[in-house]
Amino acid sequence: MRRVLVKGAGVAGLTVAHELAARGASVTVAEIRSQIGGKASWLAGGMLAPWCERESTEEAVVTLGKTSAEWWERTLPGLVTKAGTLVVAHARDALELARFAARTRNHQSVDEEAIAALEPDLAGRFRKGLFFAGEAHLDPRRVLEALASKLRAMGVVFLFEAGEIAPSGFDRVIDCTGMARADDDLRGVRGEMLILHTREVSLARPVRLLHPRHPIYIVPRADHHFMVGATMIESDHDGPITARSLMELLNAAYALHPAFGEAETVETGVGVRPAYPDNLPRVKRQKDGAITVNGLYRHGFLLSPAMAEQAAGLFNSTTKLESENEADRQRRSA
Ligand SMILES: Cc1cc2nc3c(=O)[nH]c(=O)nc-3n(C[C@H](O)[C@H](O)[C@H](O)COP(=O)(O)OP(=O)(O)OC[C@H]3O[C@@H](n4cnc5c(N)ncnc54)[C@H](O)[C@@H]3O)c2cc1C
Repeated sequence: MRRVLVKGAGVAGLTVAHELAARGASVTVAEIRSQIGGKASWLAGGMLAPWCERESTEEAVVTLGKTSAEWWERTLPGLVTKAGTLVVAHARDALELARFAARTRNHQSVDEEAIAALEPDLAGRFRKGLFFAGEAHLDPRRVLEALASKLRAMGVVFLFEAGEIAPSGFDRVIDCTGMARADDDLRGVRGEMLILHTREVSLARPVRLLHPRHPIYIVPRADHHFMVGATMIESDHDGPITARSLMELLNAAYALHPAFGEAETVETGVGVRPAYPDNLPRVKRQKDGAITVNGLYRHGFLLSPAMAEQAAGLFNSTTKLESENEADRQRRSA
């Protein structure tokens, strides 16, 4: 049985561990921190929104991400909500909505009545919107915990507070350490977020509120909790949320629904998204023989299933190549 060390227990590491264990490898996950969840991954919104994301990214995000919800549902049944995404804008920002519609597809225009039918708590607040029926969302924390439990049941070993582990005990190392990976091409994109709690609002799906300067989204979580995100700042600084970002996120949440003004602020958080220059993820074979899965940027939950499958494919093909080379060597020396 091939032995593989996966470094990092964020969404990249856990999905890679799953795909390798499912293909029969003996997998150890080493995490430098004391628990699973990653750094950026724990802060994510959990939107699986390839068509909305096309507004600001390449077509590859749609191609790689459109089957992601099915992967998560198949892997962890019952943890994905397939209720689409609603995109709205206030009347004064109608141009933003037109621009968003022009840059994306797989949506339908919705009027005030249709918005109220989808989200009764938004009735009368927005005249126009876009509905992306094919999108989905999940709760990243629940999903990562469930995935780790499943991996343990599949025989995957977890090492926490792991120092440097000698690669010699493994056939291959797969590095999923996000921003910690020394890679000159990687940069950080800081994302600040909040979790609010209010019983005055119910939402069935992620809602994006367009605005020329401060677009936000709100993702519903269990028991009337709402993740409000997120800033996009070109920086790898992961210090606490700034007063300005806090104000902007709260203002935007209040603009979506005034009841958010009375919500409890349960949590503020800052994650740094690892990104390559084109904002697309990569599975790379490094000079030291390790495979890296990185650069998931805004799309860790959306794209990690496809990246994990690519990494498993590369792992299989390189292991096969190496055992063929070994067979060649043995033939030559016989
Ligand atoms: C505010 C915010 C909102 C987001 N919303 C979404 C969203 O709605 N949908 C979506 O798809 N994506 C979203 N993202 C993006 C997503 O969170 C990231 O793309 C993803 O989490 C990156 O995952 P990762 O596993 O590569 O990195 P991380 O989650 O950072 O995990 C890397 C792990 O490696 C560990 N590590 C570091 N060094 C070592 C070492 N030497 N040995 C062992 N372990 C090590 C770290 O401790 C960490 O646990 C969001 C991101 C942010 C910040």
